[in-house]
Amino acid sequence: MSGHNFTELMDQAQEEQERSNRAALERIQSKAAPETHPDFDGKHCVECPTIIPIARRNLGKVRCVHCQTALEKRTTRR
Ligand SMILES: [Zn+2]
Repeated sequence: MSGHNFTELMDQAQEEQERSNRAALERIQSKAAPETHPDFDGKHCVECPTIIPIARRNLGKVRCVHCQTALEKRTTRR
């Protein structure tokens, strides 16, 4: 019977899928994890006087889009 092998194959594929899903999820979560900053007052960007939009603050961001982009450019450069 090939049915059994097929099931095993599906299990393996699913396991593989779950492993990579988890890895991707962990990557996303570490990137999306709420940030904290000693200078963050809950409203303003920690690097400039820009008020961070509430939607962005809800994501746990402590920087405005501009400073976040600049930071990512700094940290991703090799
Ligand atoms: Zn800023």
